[in-house]
Amino acid sequence: MRPARRDLLTLLAGGMLMAGCKPAGNATPLPKPKSDRPLVIASMSVLADVAQAIGGDDLEVRSIIGPDQSAHHHDPSPKDLVGFERASLVIHVGFKLEGWVARLPESTGYRGPIVQASESIAPILVQGTIPDPHTWQSFDGLLRYARTISKSYGEIWPHKAEAFRGRFVDFVQQLAAAREAASSALATLSSQKTLLVVPHNSFRYLGRELGLEFLAVSDLAGGTQPSAQTLAGLIDQIRQADAAACFIEGPGDERLMGEIARESGARLGGRLYADALSGPDGPAATSIAMLTHNVTTIANALRG
Ligand SMILES: [Zn+2]
Repeated sequence: MRPARRDLLTLLAGGMLMAGCKPAGNATPLPKPKSDRPLVIASMSVLADVAQAIGGDDLEVRSIIGPDQSAHHHDPSPKDLVGFERASLVIHVGFKLEGWVARLPESTGYRGPIVQASESIAPILVQGTIPDPHTWQSFDGLLRYARTISKSYGEIWPHKAEAFRGRFVDFVQQLAAAREAASSALATLSSQKTLLVVPHNSFRYLGRELGLEFLAVSDLAGGTQPSAQTLAGLIDQIRQADAAACFIEGPGDERLMGEIARESGARLGGRLYADALSGPDGPAATSIAMLTHNVTTIANALRG
């Protein structure tokens, strides 16, 4: 097994603290079922996949932010806000990812329950105070999403609780098998000091879980260009590692990551799915496939 390592930036940020979490739905009475196939609205694609996996044919799940779309800085369009009048539940990640969720009552008139999927996850704090929202990037994170969602469904639709529970158990089994395969893929690598260079800081939870060290070019949400001084510092750090690999998250990252790889001697390791699923024909079409793809891509790059 590889020795567990903590993300350097997490260490600098002061480590992890337990969240003072409070389900957003507590203050709101649970609604009665509205139709044979009630509507659940999830904020982003990874969360919607977990919500649909537990809901199965009993629920219709819609995602506000779809596959291949960044989950950051989303400003819902009028089209996104259609349908809330018949929604029975809204699920969001939390940790300040979706500021628009708090405005739903005024923007849509929605008064139903709002559940925070990451409520039981100990946040990794950035700069000591900012909870990193990328909780979907770990097997434990998806497990906790699934548990929270299954529990909420059971409370809202108690007559279907057994079906939700059964799908939750199936999901956990698939997740455990994927987690086992991921550990095996990483266990075959040598334990020398490795760095995984990514466009933005979206893999701290995966790093915490699997003992991988990620170095991000940009900030928490991405989209900012690093200064020449920042780049020079990054390249120095990469040169000091025994092995390093650079990854892209989308076509726009190729030029910068290629330049960093050339300057530092790191390998180019392919595409990781950070903030969204791929389309249905892509390699990260489900939440579990996304984690499997990311870990496999990392293991292949480190293996060279
Ligand atoms: Zn992100």
